Amino acid sequence: MSSNFARFPSVDRILRSASGVEAAAKFGHSATVSMIRICLASERVSSESTPTVEKVGELALSLLKDRMAPRIRPVFNLTGTVLHTNLGRASLAEEAIESATTAMRRPVNIEYNLNSGRRGERDDHIADLLCELTGAEAATVVNNNAAALLLTLNTLSQSKDAIVSRGELIEIGGSFRLPEIMQSAGARLVEVGTTNRTHARDYERAMGAETGTLLKVHTSNFKVQGFTAEVSTKKLSSMCRPLGVPLVFDLGSGSFVDMSTLGLPHEPTVRECVNEGPDLVLFSGDKVLGGVQAGFIVGRKKLVEKINQNPMKRALRVDKIRFAAIEATLKLYLNQELALRHIPTLRLLTRPREKITEVARMVLAHLKPKLGAAFSCKITECESEIGSGAAPTATIPSVAIAIRPKGDASVVALEEAMRRLQVPVLGRISHGTMILDFRCLEEESIGDFVKSIGSLKTRQSP
Ligand SMILES: *Cc1c(COP(=O)(O)O)cnc(C)c1O
Repeated sequence: MSSNFARFPSVDRILRSASGVEAAAKFGHSATVSMIRICLASERVSSESTPTVEKVGELALSLLKDRMAPRIRPVFNLTGTVLHTNLGRASLAEEAIESATTAMRRPVNIEYNLNSGRRGERDDHIADLLCELTGAEAATVVNNNAAALLLTLNTLSQSKDAIVSRGELIEIGGSFRLPEIMQSAGARLVEVGTTNRTHARDYERAMGAETGTLLKVHTSNFKVQGFTAEVSTKKLSSMCRPLGVPLVFDLGSGSFVDMSTLGLPHEPTVRECVNEGPDLVLFSGDKVLGGVQAGFIVGRKKLVEKINQNPMKRALRVDKIRFAAIEATLKLYLNQELALRHIPTLRLLTRPREKITEVARMVLAHLKPKLGAAFSCKITECESEIGSGAAPTATIPSVAIAIRPKGDASVVALEEAMRRLQVPVLGRISHGTMILDFRCLEEESIGDFVKSIGSLKTRQSP
């Protein structure tokens, strides 16, 4: 064995090769040495013949490059789901990006009151804006809506009953399941009613001295249809008030604009919810609102104060970068026209079909020759979804390129090839056809998109 090993190039010689020198300059001496050792070890195990100095050097360099390449990368979202949780939900308005980058670069008065010269509250920068936009008395903000719910239940319902309709015991995805959140918050879940029907008397029977909260949940990602009944927030609030039981409404995807006036499916606005009289309304910052990940809690001042005093609040607070972005986003909403033009989520959701068609046509001209004879592609109508649990059963008419394999070309291989592009293109496969929904590709990105698909390689049918 030693005779074979002896002929292996030394670490030193590889370090002095062109790739070794480049690797050490880019990634540092010790990282390069470690990687060369890893490469040599793997060559010893797998290689039949002795590798050259150059070969090991190049391998080490390319592995180091792979390791240091950005892992969170931009993608083209042509899935048709505008707010895709797996793709980071909302893209921010330029105003929000600018504010956030300033806060990233420089010290800011996040918890410093410039008028008094004393310590300030970070929430003070945005609480008044939230109140103005929702009509609520007070407001606070935490990491996300899941955190808002956790903190609210922990503050108001620890070791007490939290009453929820069986029709609203939702799972949002992954580990966000209402019964488990309740348990983590220390609240005792009391289920009332049935999956399809819950009545006022069901709640009334459950309410008593042990009740900490009554929770109403917007069933945001599914719909129960048919023989159903639920109790309105208004009615619940009239039942809770005389008993002094706080009514909490978890809205999920909260909007500040009436989406039905934009030709979109109707979802209650936050203001509408507040007007129904619950004590607190909780909603997300990065769903239809189109801002950063955040959870807003708006409602009665006394309860918001209590929530702010919970030590858990500190663990769930929002950082200066997101605070800056939230402030800028909320300010856009003070002028609805501005919000519609500048907030990408709203712009994409309300994008006219003709505009989407134009983009799809332009792309088709470039895509067709790329795909060659192996695929047929054509413009087709499709349906976009809002995503992130807003208006789950409603869709918005949109325009796509449908790519169908001919002969034995594989749509699965095409999907993978698109996913492996420098800037990955993510569509969806439906009935053996790849669908690229162009709702989320705006005019100014066409150039980048065409460039990206320029390097697309598809296996042609033999
Ligand atoms: C999305 C959603 C949540 C969770 O919100 P995040 O901001 O994702 O944490 C909670 N409740 C409802 C009803 C939702 O729709």
